[in-house]
Amino acid sequence: MLQVKDGSKKDIGRGIVRMDPADMGRLGLSDGEIVEIKGTRRTPVRLLATDHDNCGQEALFMDNLTRGNAGLSLDDRVSVHKVQVDFAMEVTIKPMTTMHLLEKDLDPKPLKEKIGGLPVIKGDRIRLSLGGGRDCDFQIVSTKPGGSVMLGPATELTVEKRTAGDRNEGVKYKDIGGLSGQLSRIREMIELPLRFPQAFLRLGVEPPKGVLLYGPPGTGKTVIAKAVANETEAWFTHISGPEIIGKYYGESEQRLRQVFEEAQAHAPSIIFIDEIDAIAPKREEMGGEKQVERRVVAQLLALMDGLQARGQIVVIAATNLPNSIDPALRRPGRFDREVPVPIPDRKGREEILQIHTRGMPLARDVDLSRIAEVTHGFVGADLEVLAKEAAMAALRGIMPSMDFEDPQVPYDRLRTMEIDMKNFSSALRE
Ligand code: ADP
Repeated sequence: MLQVKDGSKKDIGRGIVRMDPADMGRLGLSDGEIVEIKGTRRTPVRLLATDHDNCGQEALFMDNLTRGNAGLSLDDRVSVHKVQVDFAMEVTIKPMTTMHLLEKDLDPKPLKEKIGGLPVIKGDRIRLSLGGGRDCDFQIVSTKPGGSVMLGPATELTVEKRTAGDRNEGVKYKDIGGLSGQLSRIREMIELPLRFPQAFLRLGVEPPKGVLLYGPPGTGKTVIAKAVANETEAWFTHISGPEIIGKYYGESEQRLRQVFEEAQAHAPSIIFIDEIDAIAPKREEMGGEKQVERRVVAQLLALMDGLQARGQIVVIAATNLPNSIDPALRRPGRFDREVPVPIPDRKGREEILQIHTRGMPLARDVDLSRIAEVTHGFVGADLEVLAKEAAMAALRGIMPSMDFEDPQVPYDRLRTMEIDMKNFSSALRE
């Protein structure tokens, strides 16, 4: 078994791992050979000798892209297996990026030359240079035959367009009510750098790595993070503070590292940390028994500092207690942007009600603006429940006239089902 160590930046995207030639000899492997490495995934790579300086460590050096492909983290133990790799007849790839690509960027001919000789397996992420200093990651969608293959001169390469439907199920900006000011700030901070990384680089502005959303529970912080991911087609991962501390007791930091590595492997990504106050209370408030939190904060700080400031990974954290967070987390380069997500006002409530009654057959007497007026203090989550309760009240109203022997609700009955103002009133009383 060898220990996984970080590889050299210059090997990124070349499908190379390196090891001590002495280890190769011991394991019966040779320089330049294709081998498979396996963590939670398996991936084929080319084995090369490492520099003299890195010898004698019984280590396998691999960059984070390859670690993502193999499902390995730094310091994991891994074994290496020889594998027979043939040229593929067909390979299909698709870009994994939110940056704007030109038609010619997706031309299979030049891409094929770049991938020639690279060992791959379905699901791998590879990095290709598109010229003009632009790197773009592609995913291997399928290969024929399956298993580990290599692209050869006779391989037919197909490049899929990134389809809008890909990750686009789920919430969108139009499903969020009453927060247009917040949304436009967030889009500017997160969506712009995700979409136009080159523009930011060129202007020398650093896109934020971390954004803190704060406000009472149920005001839409989670939906905002999800909507940004859906709209930008970024990869989305969600962890909650209490879950990290509790569920992974003893492995909290490792879990956090895994989340970041995974996000890196799937970038552009959004990491959403809900209830961050649970992992990051002020350090001075942490007594002796708060050792775990202290270590987790330190780990989170290190991971955020290690993110490249290119806006391709954004950490969105949410809390309802912004002042209970370790100030170190709010320093520049970390969660240095804050967006309040307040309890909605009357107009906001009306917008949210409109969203959550969109698919419902409302009677003519239903006056959403009136309902918005009398629901002072309700947050988005409460209004969503209110709409559902009103629908239940409507259902309860027609129950006595329903024939329970009937396998279906008769069409005429179905057609006339409506939710009226009375239903909302009774939902409000509950
Ligand atoms: P938070 O993360 O702030 O605690 P969530 O984003 O999880 O709250 O909201 C819970 C549910 O309430 C969501 O699934 C959503 O349906 C609804 N909701 C909350 N805020 C809004 C809003 N501003 N617009 C529309 N729906 C909302």
